[in-house]
Amino acid sequence: MKKQWIASALCAVLLLSGCAAATSDPPGTGTPSASDPADPGDLPGADDPGKPAGPGHSGEQAGEPVGTGDPGTPAVTWKPSGIGYPLVPSDPSVEQKVAMLTFDDGPSDYTPEVLDRLKEAGVKAVFFITGYGAEQHPDLVRRIHEEGHVLGIHTMTHPDMTSLGREEQIAEIQPLIDLITDVAGEPPHYFRPPFGAYNDELLATLDELGLEAINWSNGSLDWDGVVEGYKDPNLVVEAVLDQLHPGSVILAHDTMKHTAEAVPLIIAALRERGYDFVVLP
Ligand SMILES: [Zn+2]
Repeated sequence: MKKQWIASALCAVLLLSGCAAATSDPPGTGTPSASDPADPGDLPGADDPGKPAGPGHSGEQAGEPVGTGDPGTPAVTWKPSGIGYPLVPSDPSVEQKVAMLTFDDGPSDYTPEVLDRLKEAGVKAVFFITGYGAEQHPDLVRRIHEEGHVLGIHTMTHPDMTSLGREEQIAEIQPLIDLITDVAGEPPHYFRPPFGAYNDELLATLDELGLEAINWSNGSLDWDGVVEGYKDPNLVVEAVLDQLHPGSVILAHDTMKHTAEAVPLIIAALRERGYDFVVLP
């Protein structure tokens, strides 16, 4: 199938070049990429309760987030320089290997395990939530916020937003703005387009709603090669390491058992290579 072929081709590109997703999609051009495979959305089989529990607790204690540990200096914040670009520091003189974990499509039955592993490691992440996930797991939306993670928007029903008109786009977004504002006490700032697909019309709508589009520069391939809802979590780690670059914005999905299992492995592997984890301000 054409879509699968495109998916395979892009996966290969992503594997070959850590910044492929970023460099092929300059900021502001809004190249639509509706066939982007990096977002399985409604992949079947992710709800497999029969798999074994994830790796044991590391017991590692949380460190302060980068840039907030020293009261004597202004905090450095990290944001992508463009949609799908790696993170850059607010202070350009800062030299630091950082990465950011982002989770799409949830909350789901696997979100608690992801949250547990993040808490054990002392890592904050961004969760781009869906309307259907939030409706099924309102308690988890609250927990994500209460545990210090960032809530972003991934639409109500996971459509290709470039195929929708302005009013339909707003209908996909506004209920989640309202929900997150209610939970977090302030409106959300970030939006991840389903399938990574955006165009100038969507960017105009997001601007109107006070949202910024955030894509990824490092795909975990947690959606690729999944058999009966599962793949070897070590392959997820391998894909992240193959694409690893300073400022990596890592795409993963808190809707998959193997991703929850891969989280502590990714964190350990990156820390071993001198990386710190940061989150959007
Ligand atoms: Zn998605």
